[in-house]
Amino acid sequence: MASDEEEEEYGYFYDDDDAEEDASAGLEQAAAPPPERRADYWAITQESLPTAQKEDLSTVMNLLNVKQHQARALLIHHRWRMDGVYDRLDKGRERMLRDAGIVLQENNIMAATGSTMPWRIMHCNVCFEDIPMGVVLTMDCGHCFCNDCWTQHFYAAVESGKKQIRCMEVKCPAFCDEDHVRRLLSRKYPEMAKRFNRFLLESYLEDNDSVKWCPSAPNCGRAIRVGTGERYCEVECPCSLSFCFNCMAHAHSPCPCTIWEKWNAKRTEGENIKWILANTKSCPKCFKAIEKNGGCNLVRCNCGQCMCWLCGGGTGLDHTWTSIAGHSCNRYKEETRGKTADSSREQMQRYKHYYDRFKIHGDSYGVEKQKLGPTLLERVRLLEADLKRPLTIRDGDWLIRAHRRLLVSRQVLSRSYAFAYYMFGGELRTRPCGRAGLAVARNLFEDQQEQLEQHVERLSELLAGADAAAMPEAEIVQAKQKAVTLVKTVERLCGEMYKCIQDELLTLLVEPMTIAAYRPDGPDKAEELTA
Ligand SMILES: [Zn+2]
Ligand SMILES: [Zn+2]
Ligand SMILES: [Zn+2]
Ligand SMILES: [Zn+2]
Ligand SMILES: [Zn+2]
Ligand SMILES: [Zn+2]
Ligand SMILES: [Zn+2]
Repeated sequence: MASDEEEEEYGYFYDDDDAEEDASAGLEQAAAPPPERRADYWAITQESLPTAQKEDLSTVMNLLNVKQHQARALLIHHRWRMDGVYDRLDKGRERMLRDAGIVLQENNIMAATGSTMPWRIMHCNVCFEDIPMGVVLTMDCGHCFCNDCWTQHFYAAVESGKKQIRCMEVKCPAFCDEDHVRRLLSRKYPEMAKRFNRFLLESYLEDNDSVKWCPSAPNCGRAIRVGTGERYCEVECPCSLSFCFNCMAHAHSPCPCTIWEKWNAKRTEGENIKWILANTKSCPKCFKAIEKNGGCNLVRCNCGQCMCWLCGGGTGLDHTWTSIAGHSCNRYKEETRGKTADSSREQMQRYKHYYDRFKIHGDSYGVEKQKLGPTLLERVRLLEADLKRPLTIRDGDWLIRAHRRLLVSRQVLSRSYAFAYYMFGGELRTRPCGRAGLAVARNLFEDQQEQLEQHVERLSELLAGADAAAMPEAEIVQAKQKAVTLVKTVERLCGEMYKCIQDELLTLLVEPMTIAAYRPDGPDKAEELTA
């Protein structure tokens, strides 16, 4: 569907200076994320993977003064989350390393002896041979075995898929120095050494909560790293796909992940339900949907019950071409809903209400993106080429900017109906104390939704009519002012809706849910990491 795709068509920067100040300006600034967080999304390719990994490794190596394999072990232990490492710094270096199963180098005589007196003989406790010190290896933990035994140990470990190899000594928790592993393996089993290297690199993607593969299909081959350690956020990959970093579906805020998943599962039923509502009636006895065939308005259900097709009421079987015995329904009666509670049909009607709105806004998004977008670009091009006009008039950035916000708010609106369908459908368990709060918060939410809807339509209309290149200067100034004000309002309303959903509504649920923060410009863009 159109609303699911995201393409980066325009690159521009929002310059707050040229936007008129109004009452909502303070609020926006308060809600804006700190600037350094914005740049903390990186796209990693096969080529830049070593660079990405090395960055994190050297940070930890410098921070704790440890070797590379120790830094790696620590990072794998914390699933490569730098914030996890920083959070535990106050425990002290030793404690932190010990918790991760890292043994620091002890002053061991063996290693020293090995380098100064290679002819000395030691006994290897694995092969029980006497070996000259020149061909034995002592690990950080102080355990010493002959090179051949170590090599076989490494071989078996890599063979079985291990990227972290423990010492050979029974019960020694230390991880082997990866430089030693690499060096010994490459002498005898160069293929295994390569495989080991690959394991180490891949660990950065597999054991890493901050890095995920872009879910684009066909796959763009990039992995995205979120440096903030945030889980509930939306990212735009350089391949133009925007996705939710938590559930990996296409971006869906302000609808929470689990609700979005339910909604999509149900969405396939959407058209089906519409058809049932339009073409069938429910049997007054068994409530099954009945389809009419033939011209006669007395219809008989499989359960045996007869009904009048005109009003849906139950009747007897006795009828002529023009009337049903004992039944008349020509007079208009007020809805008798509730008396003949057809709950499944009501459920469908309720679903249709939300589905229609979800789809209408989604379709509008598609048109505004594919038709209005190029139109606006062309108008801006013409306007900017009109050198007879003053520079400030020729600048058409405001149109592009407003258009971008229009697209984002359109999606917010569309998805807000998916959220509302489940939030107010009684299917999600709410806290017992939250029942009263739900009604209040629902009112607030629906007011916001209504207002947002109105302003988004106004913005859409304004942009569709803003043929700036053909407008006199005074009109351009006016249209620009209107657009800037509308954009601000729409932005404020979206922000408030996100806040209402997160703080007022989702908090009422027994199972907590979190949504990504509102970004007026759409999901944060990941930058390509250069190798
Ligand atoms: Zn040995
Ligand atoms: Zn050991
Ligand atoms: Zn991608
Ligand atoms: Zn999600
Ligand atoms: Zn029936
Ligand atoms: Zn008949
Ligand atoms: Zn009737």
